Amino acid sequence: MTPHISVIIPIYNEEANIEHLWARLSKVLKENFDERGWEVVMTDDGSRDRSLEMVLEIARQENRIKVLEFNRNYGQHAAIFAAFAHATGSVIVTMDADLQNPPEEIPKLVAKVDEGFDVVGGWRQERQKNDSFFPTMPSKIVNAMTRKTTGVKLHDYGCMLRAYNREVIDAMLQCKERSSFIPALANSFARRITEIPVAHAERAAGDSKYGLWRLINLQFDLLTSFSLLPLQMLSVLGVVISALGFLLFIGILIYRFINPAGTVEGVFTLFAILFFFVGCQFIAFGLLGEYIGRIYVEVRDRPRYMIKKVYNNQSHIS
Ligand code: UDP
Ligand code: MG
Repeated sequence: MTPHISVIIPIYNEEANIEHLWARLSKVLKENFDERGWEVVMTDDGSRDRSLEMVLEIARQENRIKVLEFNRNYGQHAAIFAAFAHATGSVIVTMDADLQNPPEEIPKLVAKVDEGFDVVGGWRQERQKNDSFFPTMPSKIVNAMTRKTTGVKLHDYGCMLRAYNREVIDAMLQCKERSSFIPALANSFARRITEIPVAHAERAAGDSKYGLWRLINLQFDLLTSFSLLPLQMLSVLGVVISALGFLLFIGILIYRFINPAGTVEGVFTLFAILFFFVGCQFIAFGLLGEYIGRIYVEVRDRPRYMIKKVYNNQSHIS
């Protein structure tokens, strides 16, 4: 029988959380979904601590756990993607391993998918303030920009406690691109999308795996993989700048006619303008480079991840 609920958890150096996570998650799953069936797919994203051992230890006792082992760290979204490919459930739930997403919310999400929604997002109405400075502060901007670029009005794109129906997952698995941001990608294949408020806790133990640089990278991913907006903005900017340049030219001409002697201050003005243009060009080149870089990455067509081993139903484990 195919399990009806698949819960997917990416794991990267989470040894301090695994035991507690499993205690809470298994309780929820056993209480709510034993009848219709469930499975948990965990991807060990190249952890350097005891995470894998601990997960395997649990899997030895519970054959509804599947464990994928990456040969190195490929990132949260690659880990989730790999698990998607191995999940067999008709409703698929993703969550973090650090207990920021309470497992107790899973039945609510699943109920919404059962109602007929394709994608159900968790919405952290009250984000924990010391969720580290960086993730909370720019996440408002991230959410606003994502809303604009993807055209789907969700409040919270950053929350990984989400549920999907099978069709959306199958569609996502057909995407060949590497730098994909799962919540936005899912929305592009879903017809009925909803969001429900979920509780949100502080990270139970360990540190966030996202520094400022990874967040910036994620934002670039979002911007370039889901819209051509930056390219279009470039043309708008170009038009505006040339219009301004033209006006300035006319202005200087007129000024010359009125006051043929006044030239000196103009040099400084021109310098200022020049710097402005040079700045704009750099922004433009940067954005073009970003797209070209991504094209380069895509055409190389490297595998998105490499699974070292799949541990499934005890047989491979002992
Ligand atoms: N994660 C992962 N690979 C990574 C970074 C993170 O699999 O390279 C996992 C991590 O173990 C956790 C989830 O992704 O289960 C979210 O990570 P984290 O809590 O560090 O992100 P934050 O909550 O700070 O956004
Ligand atoms: Mg976290």
